[in-house]
Amino acid sequence: MATKDVEQPVRKQGMYEVVMEQFAHAADVMGLDPGVRKILSKTNTEIEVNFPVRLDNGKIEVFTGYRVQHNNALGPYKGGLRYHDTVDLDAARALAIWMTWKTALAGLPFGGAKGGIHINPKNYSKGELERITRRFTYALGDNIGPDLDIPAPDVNTNPQIMAWIADTFSSTKSPSTRFVNLHVVTGKPVGAGGLAGRDRATGFGVVANLKSWSKLTGQPLKGMRFLVQGFGNVGYWTAHFLIKEGATLIAVQDASATFKNEKGIDPEALQAYSDANGRNVKGFPGAQEIDPKEFWGLKCDILVPAALGNQITGDNAGAITAKVVAEGANGPTNIEGEAILKKKGVDIIPDILCNSGGVIGSYYEWLQNKRAEIWKIEQVLEMIQDKVDTSFGKVVAAAKEHKVDWRTGAYIVALRRLEDTYMDRGIFP
Ligand code: NAD
Repeated sequence: MATKDVEQPVRKQGMYEVVMEQFAHAADVMGLDPGVRKILSKTNTEIEVNFPVRLDNGKIEVFTGYRVQHNNALGPYKGGLRYHDTVDLDAARALAIWMTWKTALAGLPFGGAKGGIHINPKNYSKGELERITRRFTYALGDNIGPDLDIPAPDVNTNPQIMAWIADTFSSTKSPSTRFVNLHVVTGKPVGAGGLAGRDRATGFGVVANLKSWSKLTGQPLKGMRFLVQGFGNVGYWTAHFLIKEGATLIAVQDASATFKNEKGIDPEALQAYSDANGRNVKGFPGAQEIDPKEFWGLKCDILVPAALGNQITGDNAGAITAKVVAEGANGPTNIEGEAILKKKGVDIIPDILCNSGGVIGSYYEWLQNKRAEIWKIEQVLEMIQDKVDTSFGKVVAAAKEHKVDWRTGAYIVALRRLEDTYMDRGIFP
């Protein structure tokens, strides 16, 4: 385990650079206390683990996993685990920092963390993924825990993987503490202690934000055209809920292909196809495959990036026709891309607000496990809606007060809460 200064040079326009530039801008605008600024400029802990796993062919492979814990002033560290070949310390660091802002903005008793394994999970069998996950959990040991650091699903991780983590963590402790440890992860399947509605929480929150945007700007969602990049958990559920508002899904892009249908794509049919096809949309019969480069310039009202970071950049932002970009993904817009969108008058619902339904859902799962309660999906969605709507109102008010964009407004709300906490509590010793 090591603690590192995060203000070290990283590769150009990496996600870390983006989050630090956003932070610096908001801290300047609001006049953030210099001591708090110093604290938040560093991650508390950065963990890198190398661990061996026997593959199905009998050979041993050594994997590298990460967990970066940025800040826990407000409560236990919280954030997803990603299985992807772009996972490294820089990515985990940036995503952990965004989590601190997100939980602070949402008013949750959590800090921020993120991690994952540098791996392409599509290259491994289910049995191998189970062994990799269990061994990674074992390697993290007591660096995670229900009152210390609580992982959740992210790109290429899912409820099954969360169930393996919870089971491994609990199985390595005394049997008498098994159910005290259930909430070491959130996003579990309902049968393994998960929360009804956690699966759809992020997409539900994205659409709750779009509904608030629609009300604020007087532009009805009904009849709007939308594009979704990434058709996994966030992309699918966003499309599912947005169609219910009367909008039409015109195009979808995932890692395998890009599809368009002017008459509309049925997200349920696409989801069923993708599920049966290794979670790839390639080959979907209900739309026409197009060149991925065409995606960003397609005529639309709403653009939902719901895949990876740094997707909207100086290269494609000029082509975007949307009235609003709803950031389902974390860090999808880089600094240059954002400047272009702003110049064009495109509204951006920033990631730390837009996709916060996920971590809010995770909070209720954590609370449900802690209290040994079981809630109904209707209650859960209502509670998520309430928190997301409250955050939206705060962000718009802060942006208005400081005459800044919504991203900076969101940062100001989050940073003010962290600043207040440090001011009230002081620094040990
Ligand atoms: P997922 O693994 O379920 O889906 C990811 C999707 O992105 C897949 O469809 C994949 O094919 C696609 N994708 C990957 N690389 C791509 C590329 N280069 N171009 C186009 N598409 C690509 O992941 P998810 O949980 O839906 O997460 C998506 C984003 O939302 C991530 O940025 C994640 O951090 C963020 N997020 C997720 C949650 C959550 O609850 N799962 C919560 C908040 C934010």
